[in-house]
Amino acid sequence: LQSVGKTYQSGGRSLTVLDQVSFTLEEGATMAIVGPSGSGKTTLLGLAAGLDRASTGSVLLNGIALDKMSEDQRAAVRNQHVGFIFQNFQLLPTLTALENVMVPLELRGERNIKSRAQALLQKVGLADRGHHYPLQLSGGEQQRVSLARAFSNQPRILFADEPTGNLDAETSDRIIELIFDLNREAGTTLVLVTHDSELASRTGRILRIKGGRIVSDEATLNQALAG
Ligand code: ATP
Repeated sequence: LQSVGKTYQSGGRSLTVLDQVSFTLEEGATMAIVGPSGSGKTTLLGLAAGLDRASTGSVLLNGIALDKMSEDQRAAVRNQHVGFIFQNFQLLPTLTALENVMVPLELRGERNIKSRAQALLQKVGLADRGHHYPLQLSGGEQQRVSLARAFSNQPRILFADEPTGNLDAETSDRIIELIFDLNREAGTTLVLVTHDSELASRTGRILRIKGGRIVSDEATLNQALAG
């Protein structure tokens, strides 16, 4: 990100929620974005993932300038390279767990999508819940379906917004392990937004934001050990 700013327009007013945010994250690295409520973390994640467009500055993902693209072009880049896990899961309510995982595979025009989606559900421990609709699943199970969906396009980079918010300790440990496995096994770059300092300290780098600006950007002990 280079000098990225974001201003929202609402109710005839403009609100600048990010200002002059710049950082580079190496491929295969892990980073946590932390900061107080309302500081702009989710907004920052959305811009970095190409879900939304910056008002100023530029966002490059794997060398591709997302801010110069149309929504359709950004969607194509997301389908190809990006996995996203949302705080509130965002599963499609009218599709079963299995169908939710099949959607990104279908969008990519892939083959054997049903058996591949089944294998992904198995990986997150939900092989027997494929026919359930999101409302028939617990919060932790919905989060695991959204993880299976995020893994389905073998993303180069995974963005996760409070991936363990509202989950019990055991379920969150399991989800965190699955996310870090993806980094270890496939070299997937990880960017997490979290209020959980223990989770943040497991990443290699902590970016702290306040009032829409970076106030600190530090390597953790993990990074020092890895380096
Ligand atoms: P939290 O930790 O509470 O989830 P956050 O750091 O992720 O907060 P954001 O969700 O990025 O914060 O929101 C930053 C600010 O932008 C907030 O003050 C919010 O009210 C405002 N905001 C977010 N989305 C919009 C929008 N679509 N239109 C107008 N204002 C918005």
